[in-house]
Amino acid sequence: REEKLTCQGCGVAIQTENKDKPGFVPSSALENEEIICQRCFRLKHYNDVQDVGYSDGDFLKMISQIADTKSLVVKIVDVFDFNGSFIKSLHRLTGNNPIILVGNKIDLLPKSTNLNRLKQWMKKSAKDYGLTVQDVFLVSSKTGKGFDEVKANMNAYRQGKDVYVVGCTNVGKSTFINYLINESTGTKEAITTSYFPGTTLGFIDIPLDHNASLYDTPGVINRQQLTHYLSKQDIKTITPTKEIKPRVYQINDKQTLFVGGLIRIDFIKGERQPFVLYFANALDIHRTKLEKADQLYVDHLGGMLQPPSESSKAEYPPLQERTFKVSGEKTDIVLPGLGWITLSGEPATIAVSSPSDVPVSVRSAII
Ligand code: GDP
Repeated sequence: REEKLTCQGCGVAIQTENKDKPGFVPSSALENEEIICQRCFRLKHYNDVQDVGYSDGDFLKMISQIADTKSLVVKIVDVFDFNGSFIKSLHRLTGNNPIILVGNKIDLLPKSTNLNRLKQWMKKSAKDYGLTVQDVFLVSSKTGKGFDEVKANMNAYRQGKDVYVVGCTNVGKSTFINYLINESTGTKEAITTSYFPGTTLGFIDIPLDHNASLYDTPGVINRQQLTHYLSKQDIKTITPTKEIKPRVYQINDKQTLFVGGLIRIDFIKGERQPFVLYFANALDIHRTKLEKADQLYVDHLGGMLQPPSESSKAEYPPLQERTFKVSGEKTDIVLPGLGWITLSGEPATIAVSSPSDVPVSVRSAII
């Protein structure tokens, strides 16, 4: 007899197939009297908030519950992958609640980054996506930088109300919440799992005071992230683990740069000038003549030009070209999930080829 089991902690349907999906329980644990999913288990016993990938439908259903609350929404993005980690449908789901935007992982940015300019760009980009945010904060959940400010402001903006923390997978939402919990309580009893009767979807509830809570919401997988096309090893190569070091190339027109085999940058027209590259230090850059670039890509993708590696190159989407004209001010060409290239402002026409799902954008230079 098939019995439908649900988690005693959050109410999600129990499954034993996939440990990265909601409701996972190792089959051996099905014998237990009280069955709780792995996510609730870790939370209960290790005080550790773990992210599992919810399907888009579950996610949307869950997040749209926020519209019926009176709360503050804290939206986390990865400063290194702003466009890729921005959930565009969010403002339709969270109702009229105020939103603050938190850019995480600033420890990866070079020290010389102009954080104010980065904030302005984030605010404007959010607006271009149709999302008006009250404020933007920058933090590192790894080092704790920026937490005093974000905590004080969260308290000020929430005006006694609940807080919902949202963000797509891998932005560091769990790390952010764990940091907040450990900082503010220092105890292991801070988290309780909550149960929302009538839904199969549970938020994780962290009491802020007697009347209000902070809720962790599950991360959605955003298909516009480059990482979805890559193997684990490739992702390791493109993901910076420490402060990125700029690399400077003096480029003549009719030259091409390959960023691994992921993205191609053609300098179509302009005087010789520096291209300053901000990517993970482990990611290889290759320079060639524009006229040779097509053939080089065909011959060496997955080999000299990697990631994508030989085994994952078949999955990698074809590149689509977009042309940018830069002049006047120092400009960044932003490649979501990878990094960016700074041009001096000397007139230049460049063509950037990337997967069509991964939107390349420009901003005033942040360094
Ligand atoms: P979630 O899926 O949004 O919950 O993300 P996680 O908290 O699991 O973090 C995803 C990855 O980013 C992990 O490898 C973390 O170690 C890393 N990470 C999280 N916050 C930071 C940060 O502030 N700086 C750096 N360098 N890495 C971070």
